Amino acid sequence: MSAILLNTPIELLASLTTAKAQSLQKDLSIFTVLDLISHFPFRYIDKSKVYYTTDISEDLPYIQLIGKISDFKQVGIGHKARLTASFKDSKGAIELVWFKGIQWVTKSISENNTYIVFGKPQRFGNKINIAHPEIKIFSPELISSQVGYEPIYSSTESLKKKYLDSKGLQKLIQQTFSNINPALFSEILPSDILQKHQLISRKEAYLKIHNPNNVQDIQSAEMRLKFEELFLLQLLLLKLKVNRQITYRGFVFEKIDKLFDQFYRNYLPFELTEAQKKVLKEIRKDTVSGHQMNRLLQGDVGSGKTIVGLMAMLMAVDNGFQACLMAPTEILAQQHLVTIRALVHELPLQIELLTGSTKAKEKKRILSQLKEGTVHILIGTHALIEPTVEFLNLGLAVVDEQHKFGVAQRASLWKKNTLPPHILVMTATPIPRTLAMTIYGDLDISVIDELPPGRKEIITNHRFDAQRLVVWRFIREEVAKGRQIYIVYPLIEESALIDHKALMDGYESVIHDFPQPEFNVAMVHGKLKPDEKEYEMQRFIKGHANILVATTVIEVGVNVPNASVMIIESAERFGLSQLHQLRGRVGRGADQSFCILMTKYELSKEARMRMKILCETTNGFLIAEEDLKMRGPGDIQGTRQSGDIELRIANLAQDGEILQQAREAAKSIIEEDPDLKMLHHQPLLQYLLQHKNLNKGWSKIS
Ligand code: ADP
Ligand code: MG
Repeated sequence: MSAILLNTPIELLASLTTAKAQSLQKDLSIFTVLDLISHFPFRYIDKSKVYYTTDISEDLPYIQLIGKISDFKQVGIGHKARLTASFKDSKGAIELVWFKGIQWVTKSISENNTYIVFGKPQRFGNKINIAHPEIKIFSPELISSQVGYEPIYSSTESLKKKYLDSKGLQKLIQQTFSNINPALFSEILPSDILQKHQLISRKEAYLKIHNPNNVQDIQSAEMRLKFEELFLLQLLLLKLKVNRQITYRGFVFEKIDKLFDQFYRNYLPFELTEAQKKVLKEIRKDTVSGHQMNRLLQGDVGSGKTIVGLMAMLMAVDNGFQACLMAPTEILAQQHLVTIRALVHELPLQIELLTGSTKAKEKKRILSQLKEGTVHILIGTHALIEPTVEFLNLGLAVVDEQHKFGVAQRASLWKKNTLPPHILVMTATPIPRTLAMTIYGDLDISVIDELPPGRKEIITNHRFDAQRLVVWRFIREEVAKGRQIYIVYPLIEESALIDHKALMDGYESVIHDFPQPEFNVAMVHGKLKPDEKEYEMQRFIKGHANILVATTVIEVGVNVPNASVMIIESAERFGLSQLHQLRGRVGRGADQSFCILMTKYELSKEARMRMKILCETTNGFLIAEEDLKMRGPGDIQGTRQSGDIELRIANLAQDGEILQQAREAAKSIIEEDPDLKMLHHQPLLQYLLQHKNLNKGWSKIS
């Protein structure tokens, strides 16, 4: 083959068999030469020197040590077993630890041999140890043949079988490099950006990331490549936004002098918080701009998003448009209807509810009045997006708890009018800034960052099942004070049957331990019919029941201000954000509220950490940041469906600052030259045109 280009398919590489190429495509999504050389090492082993046990610390990368291994000790049995050994060199000793492969390790290591040990030092209590070290029998040649830092590449079982383990990949990448014309690595970032952010050139970065001589090489290469990755992504997202603004004219909500004004003057039940006012101003500005609004409203649970959504809908109605509010569950939609009707009952408004369980006759009436335009506000579940639902003139769609809806569901709201309506999506899952800037890069973001005044911080405690008697006594005391209690059980699809049984058993014992007439227990779960669910829910809302046993169907939006205790059973099975959401069901009234996290005694390190974080803070943004750090971005609730985030090198949990800089840089370019027509933007434009797949999965996020 003649010259290799960056977009040459890997099948054409002489060094690869078809089978190998197919595995690379399937396992690592490597299709082109660029993909291949963008398969960056995920770590390095420092082979530039041999460390002594006395000079290692936890902040070192992977290092190598030379010495002897002795004193094997096994602690615990079964899958909790752990093996430790003492590693001694000429200056001192440290501990080595294994959690797996214990038998094999004890059999294959001899106390008489000298070994080279590779691994990452970590702190364990007040000692430093190395877990699962890589071990080789020492020979002087082994040391003398080593230089610098050895890159380690991720691989898979099937690739390893085809000799493409880390070493094999390293060789392949080096070979490919030597066949690429260096001119292909010409710079794509404008020189002022390079200078401002002190970035090394593209060519240098690709070389160094695979062949660093020292830590500085690794850092400067990573910095450059992370910046580039995030910059290109932000550029595409911002471009999408500009395109949207050019393509879609927006309805203009000029007047707010009727319903909005009357409501604001006469019927607002409380003073709006400054944060709520600020968001309303942002919405107002969008809806008079002539561009379509596409705004995400983030606000912690209980921060008062509903009233903001309602007032935005009043703006629409004041201008002769209809508005709708879509919620993810029947319970929540029903509750919105009740709340909103109560708030505006003095105003001349027709508000209707449409869900999956709306009776056929009722539905027929609503649909025809909707089309005639007599219905001003339609509240409902995803039933709203069915094709049979036709508005006369939909001007604004509000989506509550938007993370519960898929992209396609939200997108279909866009088609409910000839021009897309303004869109306001609301979420209580506080998405960390870095993540929001990435996945929602083409939305405008508003944040309600303060809670209504007078709220007391919820007190959160972690209790083990063995302490149940104490918890039950606490429930009795709180009920005696007139408060209401939630007891929530996990119900997870994968284990639905077992979970359902646990819920039922739990319900039985709650009824038994909290008998009538003093106590009254209601229960809701997903398997109930909608009217049964509604009946049970109403018993709790109206205060006829003082304990509600439930699954996570109450996770979002449910608002019963008198409920002040949230008990979460098997709390270790929930993620941080979900626990925070559930906790948000209490703390809505004037009383001191409590959340009790019940778990079994034996917990994983991560679960223990989650309980600790929950007990320490009620700040949803902090919790979301921790969630991001612990689980990684692809896992965060509600982001999955937005297209998986596949970044090759940047890490959203850690690289927030680089992301911020990259976004600023992208923004200044788009503002100055939205179509990248200027001469010094040509290399960038060419690159984007040649690598259109860069934005796959990112393009259709609403
Ligand atoms: P969320 O943001 O979780 O959807 P809600 O809109 O349900 O929160 O509001 C939570 C509670 O706070 C409701 O009972 C609501 O009436 C009340 N609320 C909202 N805004 C204010 C305010 N500015 N002052 C006092 N109470 C408020
Ligand atoms: Mg809400």
